[in-house]
Amino acid sequence: MPNAMKQTTPPKELLGDMPPAEFRQHGHQLVDWIADFLERIDDVPVTTGMQPGELRDKLPTAAPRSGESMSDILADVDRLIMPSMTHWNHPANFAYFNSSGSSPGILGEMLSAAYNVNCMTWQSCPAGTELEQVTLGWLRDLLGLPRDMWGIIYDTASTASMQAIAAAREQIAGLNVREEGLAGRADVPRLRLYASEQAHMSIDKGALTCGIGLKGIRKIPLDESYRMRPDLLERAIAEDRKDGWLPFCVVATVGTTSTTALDPVPEIAKICEREDLWLHVDAAHGGIAALDPERRYVLDGCDGADSIVANPHKWMFVPIDLSAFYTRKPDVLKRAFSLVPEYLRSVHDANVENYMEYGVALGRRFRALKLWFVLRYFGAEGLARRISEHFRLAGMFTDWIDRHPSFERMAPVPLTTVCFRAHPAGVDDEETLNGLNDRLMTAVNASGRMFITQTKLNGCTILRLVVSHLRTEEKHIVNAWQLLQEKCREVCATS
Ligand SMILES: *Cc1c(COP(=O)(O)O)cnc(C)c1O
Repeated sequence: MPNAMKQTTPPKELLGDMPPAEFRQHGHQLVDWIADFLERIDDVPVTTGMQPGELRDKLPTAAPRSGESMSDILADVDRLIMPSMTHWNHPANFAYFNSSGSSPGILGEMLSAAYNVNCMTWQSCPAGTELEQVTLGWLRDLLGLPRDMWGIIYDTASTASMQAIAAAREQIAGLNVREEGLAGRADVPRLRLYASEQAHMSIDKGALTCGIGLKGIRKIPLDESYRMRPDLLERAIAEDRKDGWLPFCVVATVGTTSTTALDPVPEIAKICEREDLWLHVDAAHGGIAALDPERRYVLDGCDGADSIVANPHKWMFVPIDLSAFYTRKPDVLKRAFSLVPEYLRSVHDANVENYMEYGVALGRRFRALKLWFVLRYFGAEGLARRISEHFRLAGMFTDWIDRHPSFERMAPVPLTTVCFRAHPAGVDDEETLNGLNDRLMTAVNASGRMFITQTKLNGCTILRLVVSHLRTEEKHIVNAWQLLQEKCREVCATS
């Protein structure tokens, strides 16, 4: 008899999942832990003082041989994970483009893990597909985007923009890149994509992935407010055509990463229409401002775009990750990516959307659930009110910077990100100022009481304070301002 047949099945308690009673107990315990965490987040340092490798050194080098108790695991969250965190769900996180996981969003995430469905096709989870269609329709209308925009959820804006560039490439007449690829072809001119000098690096990555190459990207210079100059875009396209390039795509940014500049989309859209180029709008952070009816103008001109991406996981209180992508040409996107093997077909295919056909990823999380929870819990008015408050707070901070003799504002504030630096009287050497601002940022961040990050514009180190967190209140902005002034005095005194 073969050996395998002699083996006996292990007892039932050694197989299968955690027993329901135990799940219930630890589930309640964890929800309580999360509620305490969010309630007391103000008292937790937003940054960690740890050194690289410190957590790794405290963890075993191999997975446990036999299972451990949930209580031990949860205890180690407090002991090991908490001190190693940079907190994103902290109201004093003003860094990068911060994001907040709201409580309804957290609950949606929890339920989506419990269902653990894979929304590749309609049949693989009808609710996944249909809730995605409905919530993206709601969001499109709230953002004031046209009704003929078709939506899909991707993990990130980087993925969304890469998909847009692939669709733009698919649209080029006679290229047939889907069948023929790009390499080794004498019949294909070099492709050209345009974006502003301040476009996000995800555009470069998307172009890399699509075989455009970094040299295939032409960065268009900016006006004094860091917006793409449409006249120079037009000139670049004409020059390139003359030199044998094949222009195919323009990416406009609504809310650039460094200063949240808003490229003039209406003018860019006109150029794209005239030149027959795909216009993709990267509104990953800034587009969400349009949820406030008073700020709808940020998406002006986007009705002329072929595609647009906005991230509910940035400024809309939906836990990472959830990026909303809209296009007027889903058929082109589908042509770029659709492959349907027999094992994924179903009898419903003629009548349903199978989202797997519109992108690289097959497996798709049930992300629409958390978007639905957030949209319903806050409502359109609740979301607008919160975004409007961020504008008020950022305006307040901008005023303080503008009026203080030792600080200087470094860019316009079209949204809620304030670019500034310390510039004490009598210190005018740029390198000295850069060093001083580096030290100021390090000092405020080391306090654990706030978190900001920097950018560079024209060689100057610039500090960015981004007000887009759900839990940020006026007192947090007041504290941040006091801390900045206090640390500025210290840094100046010791330099
Ligand atoms: C944040 C951001 C991105 C990248 O977003 P991910 O979802 O992290 O990929 C791209 N473009 C802009 C303008 C952004 O603000």
